[in-house]
Amino acid sequence: MVTTHNLGFPRIGARRELKFALESYWKGKSSREQLVAIGAGLRQQNWEAQHRLDYLPVGDFSYYDQMLDMSFTLGNLPERVRDYGGDTLDNYFRVARGRSAESAGADASCTCGVVAGEMTKWFDTNYHFIVPEFTDDTEFNLDATRLLDQIREAKSHGVDIKPVLIGPVTYLALGKDKDNSNKLTLLPKVLRAYGQLLEQIAVEGIEWVQVDEPILVAELRPEWQAAFMTAYQELETDKVKLLLTTYFGKLIDNLSLVASLPVAGVHLDAINAQCEVELLIAALPVNRVVSLGVINGRNIWKTDLVELLDWLEPIACELGDRLWLAPSCSLLHVPVDLDSEEKIDAEIKRWLAFAKQKLEELDVIKAALEGGRESVRAELESNQSAITSRRQSSRVNNPAVRQAIASIDAQFGNRSSVYADRAAKQAEILDLPKFPTTTIGSFPQTSDIRRARRHFKAGKIDEAAYLAAMETEIARCVREQEALGLDVLVHGEAERNDMVEYFGEQLDGYAFTDFGWVQSYGSRCVKPPILFGDISRPNPMTVQWIKYAQSLTDKPMKGMLTGPVTILNWSFVRDDQPRSESCKQLALAIREEVLDLENSGVRIIQIDEAALREGLPLRQSEWSEYLDWAVESFRIAANGVADETQIHTHMCYSEFNDIIEAIAEMDADVITIETSRSDMELLDAFKDFMYPNGIGPGVYDIHSPNIPNEQHILDLMEKAAERIPVERLWVNPDCGLKTRQWEEVIPALSNLISAAKQLRSRLSPCG
Ligand code: GLN
Ligand code: ZN
Repeated sequence: MVTTHNLGFPRIGARRELKFALESYWKGKSSREQLVAIGAGLRQQNWEAQHRLDYLPVGDFSYYDQMLDMSFTLGNLPERVRDYGGDTLDNYFRVARGRSAESAGADASCTCGVVAGEMTKWFDTNYHFIVPEFTDDTEFNLDATRLLDQIREAKSHGVDIKPVLIGPVTYLALGKDKDNSNKLTLLPKVLRAYGQLLEQIAVEGIEWVQVDEPILVAELRPEWQAAFMTAYQELETDKVKLLLTTYFGKLIDNLSLVASLPVAGVHLDAINAQCEVELLIAALPVNRVVSLGVINGRNIWKTDLVELLDWLEPIACELGDRLWLAPSCSLLHVPVDLDSEEKIDAEIKRWLAFAKQKLEELDVIKAALEGGRESVRAELESNQSAITSRRQSSRVNNPAVRQAIASIDAQFGNRSSVYADRAAKQAEILDLPKFPTTTIGSFPQTSDIRRARRHFKAGKIDEAAYLAAMETEIARCVREQEALGLDVLVHGEAERNDMVEYFGEQLDGYAFTDFGWVQSYGSRCVKPPILFGDISRPNPMTVQWIKYAQSLTDKPMKGMLTGPVTILNWSFVRDDQPRSESCKQLALAIREEVLDLENSGVRIIQIDEAALREGLPLRQSEWSEYLDWAVESFRIAANGVADETQIHTHMCYSEFNDIIEAIAEMDADVITIETSRSDMELLDAFKDFMYPNGIGPGVYDIHSPNIPNEQHILDLMEKAAERIPVERLWVNPDCGLKTRQWEEVIPALSNLISAAKQLRSRLSPCG
C-alpha cells in the first residue's frame, strides 16, 4: 500500500474566483457572508478535485496568506492592530493590506487604516508572504478557530484529511525582529502555543499533521539547528503524528538533523533533492514514514511516469507501507486546471499538467506501484506518447539556435573599450547636461490604452486601429516629456501589457495560457508565459515603435527592452535543459534586437533586469554559479554594440551589497535603481565598491501616490553626490510610471527636472 497526499492546493480558484470575491469585498460591494460563502465553495471544490488522495490538505486555504494565517492562529498580532474592535477577518485584512474592507458608504479615508505588514518572497518562488513581527515581549495566544472550523467542515464532506501548519522554526526564522530583539528567545513560548494547537487538533480525531519546515533547505546556523531539536522534542506527542515537511531544495548539512528528529514521518522534495532520497532513507529509523515529492509542484510539465516508475519501484519495494507520495511542494505555485485552456496549441497542451492533472499523475503512479504497470497501461501509454512528442518536436528543437549558441565566443559579451573611453565618445554624441534626467520606461497605462487592447484582443477593432491608438499614446507621451524638458526620452511602453509577456509573444519557443494564473500575493496573480522550446526572434520586436517615437523629437529616445534573466525568471521554464541554457538563448534573441535598434539609429538602449536578484538560489554557496551565467547572459544581450551606443540597465530593488560585483561585471554604461525609500543609503554599496559606471538613483517613489517636492529630490541627490562622483549621476524615478496617473506624474517629474537644474547651477554658476 502506497499512501498519497497533497501538501496544498491553489486557493485562488480556476477562474480566480477568490481574487474577485476579495476585491469586491474590500471595495464594499459585497458582504462578508458572500466572501465567506465563496471561500467555502472553493474549499469544497478543491477537496473534490483531490478526492482520490488518501489524505487531503486542510488549512491550506487562506483568504490572503498562509503565514499571516499562522500569525493569527498563534495570536501574534502586530501591536498596532491589537486593540481593534471590529471582526477578526477585517483585522486580518488590516494587517495584510493596511486597511479593512471599506463598507459601502463609509469614508475611504477613515482612520481604520494602519501600516500594512511587510511582504517578502516565499523562498525562491514568486509568492509573497506577510512577515511575522517579533519583539522581546511577544506573547502568543492560541486561537485555532480558523483551522478547527476547516477541519470540521472537511469532515462534514466526508474526506480524509491532514491539517497543514507552518512549523514553529520556519515561522520564527522567517519573521522579523523589531527593536533588535532576538526572536530565538521566543522559542519556548511559541512551542507552548504549538503544543496546545496539536492537542486541539488531536481532539478532532486527526491522525496526521503536516508541519512545513521549508527553512530546512536553507543554510542554518548552529543555534537554529539546535532549535529544531528542541522544538520537535518538545512537540513529540502520542496524540497525533507529525509529518515534517521540507521542500524547494536539498537538505545537505541538515539531512542528519532531519533524520534524528522525533517525528513520525519526513517529506522530501524528490524533484530538487532526488539525490538525497537514498541518504535520507538510510538515515531514518525504520519506523518512520518517508514521503517523497515526486511530481514537480513548481512547473507545468507532464511527468515522465515511466522514468519515474523505473526509479521508484525499487524504493517502493524497500519501503513498503512506509512510502508516501505527493507533489514536491504545495501546488499553490501552479495553475489549477489545464482543462480550462482552449486556445493553447493542442500539441503543446498535451505536454502540460496543472494542479489537477498533477494529482491524476500521482494516482496513476500509485496504481502502478500497487497493481503493476499493466493495471494502468493505457494511462502510461498516453503519458509516454506525450513525453515522446515533446522530446522530438521540431518546435522544441531548433538546430539553428543550437548552432548560434555553440558559436558564442569569449568576445561576445565584451564591449570593445573600457567604460571611460566609451563614456567620452557617448558624451560627445549625446551632448547631455550634467545630472541628465530620464524615466525608467513606462508612462501611465490609461484606461484608453487598456480599452484599445481589450477591444483589439476581442476583435472589436482591427490591427490598424489598434496600432493607431498606440501611436496616439506614444505621441502624447513624447509631447509631455518634451514639454517637461526631460533630457532622455522614452516612448512610454503603451503597447506593452507586461514587460515579459510582450517579448514572449513575439519570440518562437513561447506559449501562453488563458487561465494559467498563479497567486503572487493576496488577490494578486501572475500568468507566467511558458518557455517550451529553443528561443528565436523571427522579427524585430520593438524597433518600429522606438523609431516612430524618435521621429517625433530631436531629443535622444531610449530603446526599451527586458533582459534575458528577467524574462527567464518570470516564466515557466523548460525542465529538459538547464536554466542557464534557456537564458543564453534568450540573450541571443535580445542581442539581435539591440543590434537592430542600434542600426536604426537608436543611441541609448535600456535593458531591464528587474528580476535578476530574485533568481538567486536559496543557498548562498550556489550564488556565484547563478550570477556567473546571469551576468554572462546580460553581457551577451547588451555588449555587442559600438562604443558610441549607451547601454542602460534597470533594477528595481534596493539590496545590492552582496551582488555588487556581479552588477559591475554587467558593465552597463548606466544603471538606474530603486533608492528613494532607503534615503540613498544603499548607494553605500556602490561607493564602497567604487562602482565605476554611471548611476541613476531613484528619487521618486513610484509605489506611493505622494508627489515628491523639489527640495526632497534635491536632498536625496545631495546625499547621492556624497557617495558617487557627480559626473556619473543621473536623475530619475525609482521605476516605471505605468501604475501612476498623469496628474501625479507631471508635477513629480516637473519637480525632478527643476531639482536637476538647481544641481547644475550649483555645480557651475555660469552654466
Ligand atoms: N521599463 C519598465 C517600466 O518602466 C521597467 C519595469 C520594472 O522594472 N519592473 O515599466
Ligand atoms: Zn523597476
